[in-house]
Amino acid sequence: MTINPTKLPESFSKLSASELNGIIKRIKAKLGNRLLILGHHYMSDAVIAHADRRGDSFGLAKIAAETQAEYIVFCGVHFMAETADIVTRAEQQVFIPDPTAGCFLADCARIEEVKAAWQVLRSVSDMRIVPVTYVNSGADLKAFCGENGGLVCTSSNAAAALNWAFGRGDKVFFFPDQHLGRNTAYRKGIALDEMLLWSSDLSASNSEDVIRRAKVILWDGFCIVHQEFDSDYISRLRREDPQVRIIVHPECDFDVAQSADDMGSTAYIIDKIKNAPVGSHWAVATEKNLVNRLKEDYPDRRIEILQTFEPACQSMAQISLARLAFLLAQLERGNLINRVAVDERYAGAARIALKRMLELNA
Ligand code: SF4
Repeated sequence: MTINPTKLPESFSKLSASELNGIIKRIKAKLGNRLLILGHHYMSDAVIAHADRRGDSFGLAKIAAETQAEYIVFCGVHFMAETADIVTRAEQQVFIPDPTAGCFLADCARIEEVKAAWQVLRSVSDMRIVPVTYVNSGADLKAFCGENGGLVCTSSNAAAALNWAFGRGDKVFFFPDQHLGRNTAYRKGIALDEMLLWSSDLSASNSEDVIRRAKVILWDGFCIVHQEFDSDYISRLRREDPQVRIIVHPECDFDVAQSADDMGSTAYIIDKIKNAPVGSHWAVATEKNLVNRLKEDYPDRRIEILQTFEPACQSMAQISLARLAFLLAQLERGNLINRVAVDERYAGAARIALKRMLELNA
């Protein structure tokens, strides 16, 4: 991957919101169909207002694969822009307002560690293992899955991805998010004692026998934002209002998922609230920008975040109005900064793994 961070000059950081909005609107009008701005649901209100299309990581990957736009500006974190670059054509270019906007979860798994684990797993097991990576991962991990008969998944299609994988192998090696892997596998009827949390330390709890018995081997990654929710708070809310409905993202831990009434991807949560009866009471476990937007969009339902404070993703917050305006101003001048271009060493195999994912829901 290529990261080319460009410092935000004072001439932009000192502009007011209305001046920045004016710049963005003017350049969008000028570039017309040549430009597509994609906005992840966790973006701030100020930024998402300029997105041509909104979505979760799966929805935005699909839109990127289908668009004809020459410039795709991805308002999200780096792995999402990488994914867009992989699924678009060579003549299209993907940009991100701040290329240093990473993802804690994606950084939990490094290719060298995953390859080392894969070697151990392959050496102790005579069964077929299929690697599955959550889309929140680097392009090198997606390429690893493409090269080794595996695929990518998102929280929207993790169950379908596990079905796909078990149709081709006896075990699944799932990374980097242990919680999405565990919650999804458990829903499929796989017992907790058939899942192994991978450790490079081959101790008694991770012995060859345990590895042989496991159906799902989980990487020990997690999302720092979705770890903020806890099941004690759910009990407290239920005492206060037995009618409350608890809906959580599958990146939450197992206890939270088990204590909730419902669980699903960002798109699933939005759809559930949209179709909920007027007057219903919902507590939602996911990033604060999405929950606050749901509150504004559906004022006739009682919606709250499943915590006493508002868990926020600092990486998503790096994508500011000023950075978006600055990037567009550079593109207008033909100065192609902050481009996200996945190294060709990984792009081909990563594309195979992503294509398998996109076909799951085709
Ligand atoms: S909310 Fe979690 S998984 Fe999503 S970008 Fe932020 S750190 Fe990564």
